[in-house]
Amino acid sequence: MKIPFVDLKRQYQNHKEEIDVAIQDVIENTSFIGGPIVTKFEDAYAESYGVKHCVGVANGTDAIYIALKMLGVGPGDEVITTACSWISTSETISQTGATPVFVDVKEDFLIDVTLIESKITEKTKAIIPVHFFGQMVDIQSVRMICDKHNLLLVEDCAQAHFAERGGVRAGLTGDIGTFSFYPGKNLGAYGDAGAIITNNDDLATQCRMYAKHGGLVKHQHKIEGINSRLDTLQAAILSVKLKYIGEWTEARRKVANQYFELLEDVLQLQLPIVHDDSKHVYHVFCVRVERRDELKSYLTEQGVSTALHYPVPLPLLECYDYLKHNEDDFPIASSLSTQILSLPIFPEMTREEIQYVCDTIKEFYLI
Ligand SMILES: *Cc1c(COP(=O)(O)O)cnc(C)c1O
Repeated sequence: MKIPFVDLKRQYQNHKEEIDVAIQDVIENTSFIGGPIVTKFEDAYAESYGVKHCVGVANGTDAIYIALKMLGVGPGDEVITTACSWISTSETISQTGATPVFVDVKEDFLIDVTLIESKITEKTKAIIPVHFFGQMVDIQSVRMICDKHNLLLVEDCAQAHFAERGGVRAGLTGDIGTFSFYPGKNLGAYGDAGAIITNNDDLATQCRMYAKHGGLVKHQHKIEGINSRLDTLQAAILSVKLKYIGEWTEARRKVANQYFELLEDVLQLQLPIVHDDSKHVYHVFCVRVERRDELKSYLTEQGVSTALHYPVPLPLLECYDYLKHNEDDFPIASSLSTQILSLPIFPEMTREEIQYVCDTIKEFYLI
């Protein structure tokens, strides 16, 4: 058996007709930039998410950058974020001229909220928690810290479309929520795409303006901005796919439950920690294992693709050498990074495939 890490082809095959029509429609109308198709997706996303505004942008990285810029983050500021994320979360902080301040995670891979206050200084302007792997941070506690210290809150929801904690969706507690629609994300385009959500009217307008060269009316540039548009072709594809996100999320959760069931008795493996009040959307199914590299190679030999999210904690990446951190500053993130292994997960994964992955793991450990 050959098991891909994600299989975007099956999803396309299942909805080919509808997606092809949507793409063809954009091409026939030669409406490649902006237009009603983009607005339609933005409105549909805002509506299904239960938020006032959705601003489509070029990708999830720009979404964070634009959010920070429009919240006024800049040179001299510090922004607190997690040691475990994709580089976008911290590189955008630096792009504004601010400095990223990293906080270690807990064993659930989420920012350790109890450590945040110790990192707050006079320069701290904002916090970016990351709803990692599909599970939300305890966002109410982060909100309380922000309120107490008068800090801005940007939720990086790139891995957590429609995830919930305490009945509240990712992205709705902060000043802004940011999303990526990178093809492999839970809601993925056929290229780069992203979005910003907020209930704040002014902030939404500011973000929209900044993403469109600083002006909403042609040739009237109120400020200097950037070019970060949600591509019309991507918006057309996303509008079709949005209809199925609920179904796909449930399918992911089902795959995860099967993994839980089948791997429960493998003592060499620790399953993800899922909080009671959490609706996990399993963007990534990351387990902790003994003899990780050997297991990974064995699975590869047996046709099972796996991945590492992520092999090096952010503050220990070469680009942050100047911050002079070492592993002792982030003991949990550092120790987790040597044990992590992300197993294949996608909505169309079959019971047989899940069984094969689990059997192969058990074979490796001679169970
Ligand atoms: C994917 C991702 C991003 C960036 O999204 P792009 O669309 O690739 O720019 C940001 N943050 C996290 C946590 C991500 O996983």
